[in-house]
Amino acid sequence: MIAYLGRIVHDNDAESKLDDDVSSISKSLDLQGSIEKGDVSSLASKDFGGLYSVKPLFLIKPSGAEDISRVVKLASRTSNLTVAARGNGHSINGQAMAEGGLVIDMSSTEKNHFEFLPINGSHYIDVSGGALWEDVLTRCVSRYGYAPRSWTDYLSLTVGGTLSNAGVSGQAFRYGPQTSNVTELEVVTGKGEITVCSETLNSELFFGVLGGLGQFGIITRARIKLQQAPDMVRWIRVVYSEFEEFTRDAEFLVTQKEGESFDYVEGFVFCNNDDPFNGWPSVPLDPGHEFNPTHISQTAGSVLYCLEVAFHYRNSDHPTVDTAVNGLLGRLRFVEGLKSQVDVSYTKFLLRVNRAEEQVKANGTWDGPHPWLNLFVSKSDVVNFDRTVFKTMLKDGVGGPMLIYPLLRSKEKRSA
Ligand SMILES: Cc1cc2nc3c(=O)[nH]c(=O)nc-3n(C[C@H](O)[C@H](O)[C@H](O)COP(=O)(O)OP(=O)(O)OC[C@H]3O[C@@H](n4cnc5c(N)ncnc54)[C@H](O)[C@@H]3O)c2cc1C
Repeated sequence: MIAYLGRIVHDNDAESKLDDDVSSISKSLDLQGSIEKGDVSSLASKDFGGLYSVKPLFLIKPSGAEDISRVVKLASRTSNLTVAARGNGHSINGQAMAEGGLVIDMSSTEKNHFEFLPINGSHYIDVSGGALWEDVLTRCVSRYGYAPRSWTDYLSLTVGGTLSNAGVSGQAFRYGPQTSNVTELEVVTGKGEITVCSETLNSELFFGVLGGLGQFGIITRARIKLQQAPDMVRWIRVVYSEFEEFTRDAEFLVTQKEGESFDYVEGFVFCNNDDPFNGWPSVPLDPGHEFNPTHISQTAGSVLYCLEVAFHYRNSDHPTVDTAVNGLLGRLRFVEGLKSQVDVSYTKFLLRVNRAEEQVKANGTWDGPHPWLNLFVSKSDVVNFDRTVFKTMLKDGVGGPMLIYPLLRSKEKRSA
């Protein structure tokens, strides 16, 4: 049985505790971490979406699972008191907020777990729910030469925050979303119990928490599958004017066997015009390689498509990389002349959006509202979707990225 966080029973004693000042609450809860009064200007009252702002009652910085358990137990005994775990607050609709409630800032627990685990010939890492993926990446690669297999495009997100959603990037076609690459979780349930769960142990809780938007428990530790980290990545972009050719090639790449395709496949839509934010200039090719629109046919529509792929290799493989990459590119039907490629280290490739963040912060658009929308569209509807949504409704762009992730439904881990 799973208890929803914030599901409550009336308890006058517990409620009266909330009228006390911060230090007496902290004392009565016997927290090792700290607690502060909620404030409209505190980080817990905002998120990346910038659409909602609410004032929490308290912001709690737990030292670990025991503190979180005490806080959740208090909330479960108190009427109308909600609890929200906050990772890095990069969701968009107030999911990590609690109006008049308790926000648990998971960043204070980020260093609690970091253990490399070779088990039966496979490799795993135990990390904290509050750890940032960018730190997991750099620590895993530099210490052990291993890395998680499935990522998000941007890595200043927490392990608990993306596992509560899905965690999707260009590796998901092969390994599934990040939620499919977790074998065990330690969770504080809605009753405040600290519970370990997996596919075979408390599996209802495990599958409820993964993708559960923090409503089924708070992730304090996750065991993530690893792969040997490549040294380098060849990062390639090719442009299409026809959607059918773009999707045909994306589908071809994501259905090939491992070792016979790229390691990362993703795409995006942009406007077929010279608008600096939505059009040709928004598609960076190689440094110094400007987008040349004369390659685009006169019959192309209002939008164009970019397929972004990456090929992993070790330094010792370098001589064979050209053959493998050119063999794959030779099977694709992109617009001649609109291809770019660059070789970068594996960590630099994975941190590419973090670098873009610095530029966006510098031009002031990072802090604006971000009304984002994510949709799954089935293969049978995707051409119609392109015609109605991309080519018609969004023909002038959205002032931000319009990303396409080719996914295989079979790669998503589900409960039996
Ligand atoms: C610039 C940017 C780029 C992004 N790129 C991608 C991408 O490429 N792929 C992708 O899949 N997503 C992407 N996202 C979306 C992102 O994965 C989600 O919004 C994610 O939830 C944010 O993580 P966070 O740590 O900031 O979580 P928060 O926003 O803090 O929390 C999100 C939800 O998770 C819950 N939660 C947080 N921590 C825990 C925990 N430890 N246990 C249980 N529940 C918890 C919260 O209560 C809330 O419901 C992007 C977001 C941004 C802002």
